[in-house]
Amino acid sequence: MATYDLIIRNGQIVTSESVTTGDIAIKDGKIVEVGSQISGQGTNEINAEGLHVFPGLIDTHVHFNEPGRTEWEGIETGSKSLAAGGVTSYFDMPLNSTPPTIDKENLDIKKKLSAEKSVVNPNFWGGLVPENIGKLKELHENGVIGFKAFMSPSGIDDFNRADDETLYKGMKEIAAVGSRLAVHAESTVMCDQLATEKIRAGKTSARDFVESRPIISEIEAVRRLISYAEATGCKVHVVHASSKKVVDVINEAKQKGVDITVETCAHYLALTVKDLEEKGGLAKCAPPLRDQDEVDDLWTAVLNGEVDMIASDHSPAPTSMKTVTDNYFEGWGGISGAQSTLNVLLTEGHFKRNLPLEKIVTLMGTNPAKVFGLANKGNIAVGYDADIAIVNINESFKLENDDLFYRHQHSPYVGMTFNGKVKTTIVNGKVVFENGTFLDA
Ligand SMILES: [Zn+2]
Repeated sequence: MATYDLIIRNGQIVTSESVTTGDIAIKDGKIVEVGSQISGQGTNEINAEGLHVFPGLIDTHVHFNEPGRTEWEGIETGSKSLAAGGVTSYFDMPLNSTPPTIDKENLDIKKKLSAEKSVVNPNFWGGLVPENIGKLKELHENGVIGFKAFMSPSGIDDFNRADDETLYKGMKEIAAVGSRLAVHAESTVMCDQLATEKIRAGKTSARDFVESRPIISEIEAVRRLISYAEATGCKVHVVHASSKKVVDVINEAKQKGVDITVETCAHYLALTVKDLEEKGGLAKCAPPLRDQDEVDDLWTAVLNGEVDMIASDHSPAPTSMKTVTDNYFEGWGGISGAQSTLNVLLTEGHFKRNLPLEKIVTLMGTNPAKVFGLANKGNIAVGYDADIAIVNINESFKLENDDLFYRHQHSPYVGMTFNGKVKTTIVNGKVVFENGTFLDA
């Protein structure tokens, strides 16, 4: 009789194609059989009756800030929060850690730290800044998943924004190695000018902050990016689009044959300007949260398949940096959300708007795996890596600060009632998280 390391029995297996009842057998970190009533035995067996078995999800956008700003988050706490939320692979951004990931030397440091500390699978973005055009090739050759540039100031002194010349030259280099450039697309001219006018007039409310970073500023930057992509042949990826209007511009370009993909974030699908007004700095980010009509339109884009992927853009900071009171132009912008993305997609998506479960796998599994070349990740099938999240989608809970595994236990999602309790998370065939506890130090 065949023996396996682990068999998950009688779960509702969710792939990008279907939801079916069955068993999954795992050996040597790989899925080796999927079917109904697998014969044979597992050294370990999990009864998943009544539970949904998702492929471990991929979060393409997190800032773990290690090394250099580990007091803001860190690889261990950050990766644990992902695992607790059903995510088993992440792409760490090149900035907020310091030195930033803009050459091989600093990429190597991050790789080493992650190998020691991460409880899930790490991947790394390389930066594109004015100072490192000559380093892009070495970053690519050493395995970065893609590159990241800012068209507006990043808010971090050692990660300069890519001016138009840097963007154009960098995109030529990135096209030459066949990689993809992810871009924070907001117009620096518009945002700077609007912010200056607001502050000069003493207008610093949440609404003023939002109005200083309008949707048109995203659209202007995305259109410029598209024209550079057409000129250079560089594949591009727009991160954290906050509005369907931005997604529409991207889809027009796609139809013309531009290789462009788009991510939105859970917070643009679950929170509004009202949350920014009520929760202050905890809900501050850039681009900012929008109004409810925009949230509804963005959901339409997601349901229509016009958004390629959904990420957390987990960008944590100590609580003391998140206490905006009256001036919303002050305080760190960045939302702590890595643990809650699946909860948002289940609660706001599946249960409120009929987002099929299969679509969650597409958005946070097969699409990121395909776009960024992760073979054997993001789905459940024979030969795939055994990255799995077992979830009770019907169990609801109110998120409390104490539930969070972040270094700083705050999030704008605290106090919200979510569906979907992650029971077990398996990474490369090993159970790392079970019933609220991490098994392996
Ligand atoms: Zn980010």
